[in-house]
Amino acid sequence: MSPPEEHQKPWETQRRGLLLLMSSPSGAGKTSLSRRLVADYSDLTLSISATTRQPRPGEEDGREYHFVTDTEFDRLVAEDQMLEWATVHDHRYGTPRKPVIEALEMGHDVLFDIDWQGARSINSAMPRDSVRVFVLPPSWSDLSRRLHARAQDHEDVIQRRLERGRDEITHWGEYDYVIVNKSFDRAYADLSHIYRAERMKPGRNTWIKAFVDGLRSERA
Ligand code: 5GP
Repeated sequence: MSPPEEHQKPWETQRRGLLLLMSSPSGAGKTSLSRRLVADYSDLTLSISATTRQPRPGEEDGREYHFVTDTEFDRLVAEDQMLEWATVHDHRYGTPRKPVIEALEMGHDVLFDIDWQGARSINSAMPRDSVRVFVLPPSWSDLSRRLHARAQDHEDVIQRRLERGRDEITHWGEYDYVIVNKSFDRAYADLSHIYRAERMKPGRNTWIKAFVDGLRSERA
């Protein structure tokens, strides 16, 4: 057995997928970083959460989130269809279980844009598969400016997000990596290096044992 090339099909089944859990206060740039990583790596898919919050201008059902009613959310929880869920900014957000399990089994990686509570639950359920990344803003004024510039929320909502962000950042120590998003390009380079290095860990690459056995049985 030879080492898989990125473009070879067997790669997908010979590597166990990883779960990239990304958290940050709202407005720190986590969503832009995640979307770029998913666009650049075909092995990586974004977990689409379900939420009871209203769509923001420009958001589409099934793309940013599955926008559901409170009753639908209750049903998903009751039927055990959620891998985890949490209340954030007065609304409920949760990760549908099935797409995550299917992606992992196919050797695909899944990226989660998730708060600290969700990152903690997924990491406790699947510690070997989880890689946790926390994104910090370079300053609080920068974060406030970004939230205002995005002009998607009312002032009181922005103030609540900033307030919650102060709590969110106290959890940075629970993460494997912390990125300060001062420059998007630099932060993105750091994120993609983390992702690429994590993919190479021996425990995720089930092909290595057979490959090494093959090397050892070869005679030069
Ligand atoms: P927003 O309303 O700005 O899209 O998201 C608010 C917060 O909810 C963000 O911190 C985001 O990471 C978090 N969030 C989004 N989806 C989920 C999820 O499925 N589970 C949990 N626990 N948090 C989520």
